[in-house]
Amino acid sequence: MTKENVIKNNAEKACPVSDKCGACRYTEISYEEQLKSKQRMSERLFSKFCKVEPIIGMDDPFHYRNKVHHVFSRDKAGNVITGSYEEKSHRLVEIPTCLIEDESSQKIIKTVAKLCKSFKILIYNEKSGYGLLRHVLVRRGFTTGEVMVVLVLTSPILPGKNNFVKALLKEHPEITTIVINVNDKDTTMVLGPVNKPIYGPGFIKDKLLNCTFRISPSSFYQINPVQTEKLYKTALEFADLTGTETVIDAYCGIGTIGLSAAYKCENVIGVELNGDAVGDAIINAKENRISNARFFKGDAGEFMDKMASDGASADVVFMDPPRSGSTEKFMDSVLRLKPSRVVYVSCDPDTLKRDLEYFTKKGMHVKRIRPVDMFPMTEKCETVALVVPVLEKRRVCNGETFI
Ligand code: SAH
Repeated sequence: MTKENVIKNNAEKACPVSDKCGACRYTEISYEEQLKSKQRMSERLFSKFCKVEPIIGMDDPFHYRNKVHHVFSRDKAGNVITGSYEEKSHRLVEIPTCLIEDESSQKIIKTVAKLCKSFKILIYNEKSGYGLLRHVLVRRGFTTGEVMVVLVLTSPILPGKNNFVKALLKEHPEITTIVINVNDKDTTMVLGPVNKPIYGPGFIKDKLLNCTFRISPSSFYQINPVQTEKLYKTALEFADLTGTETVIDAYCGIGTIGLSAAYKCENVIGVELNGDAVGDAIINAKENRISNARFFKGDAGEFMDKMASDGASADVVFMDPPRSGSTEKFMDSVLRLKPSRVVYVSCDPDTLKRDLEYFTKKGMHVKRIRPVDMFPMTEKCETVALVVPVLEKRRVCNGETFI
């Protein structure tokens, strides 16, 4: 199986565990077909709002994931195995190779598994609740080359820590930081609340468009940086900033969209629920010498509601909510701020459709829609939508106004 086969007209099975792992549903069709299928899906959902522009695909749709997460377990013979949970279950599917994960991060995970044996690190057992190492997460800055390894443990103490770090760095000198994340709860959440760096600064940096971003272990960062630049460029094109606007970056994560927009507008206000991410966003503004952006921790709906009640207004609202989409409270507040453009960046077409229906019911009009393929091999699709007040639809022609 070659990459070319998958890109052109693959009919063979490209991944031996795709059925069980469930992450990639599209490995048996060519990349061209994958894009066509996502375009059709977008048209089915969104054509009622406006014409769907052509999907933006990847040149090389493999190994795009800059974040690789493996669950650690033992097989019946007691060997350390790593992979992901079988879909809708807690059975581990061993993942020896993967078409979408960053290859150098996969190697680091394999080395950690090997070191567990020599350092006699106990692997966590979900049933008994006994053991130390639960998950390993590797994040690589594709532009900077910086690499963060997060060891998710049930305790902050890793026996033989210094020698473990030395041994891991010996095999992977590219690692720039190692962090212990403590998660001692019986939970399906991967990360616990405490991060303790045991090597390096405890974060990595990466570059997108013209900015450098610091990324902490618990902060959200888009997993496909090559496509993220295309996604943000599309969002910025839709926003059509002229330099005078007040811009909201709602659900801002580490401030990536807002800071990319800051050069082209008057000021940026970002809001985000995750405190670590807000901390990163504030530092990112400083380190990129951007003085017209402020970031706040809070629920986006509550924050916007308060802004609207205080009589504030905004010219452009970027909104990039999680898969569950936005809330009526948030969207009602957006309407009260009377922006001339809302740029909705969505990772879930179904919740996007629901929210666009709400906006249109409330007097807004969807002017542009463009899918961006952030997740090749999977069914998932990112979409950018431009929503404007209905009056914006009016055009004056020869002194006459028409819609
Ligand atoms: N725009 C950013 C992050 C998008 S992911 C980027 O492109 O990187 C969605 C973000 O919404 C996450 O950082 C998540 O922590 C945040 N979030 C989830 N629920 C929220 C809420 N109710 N209010 C504010 N932020 C929220």
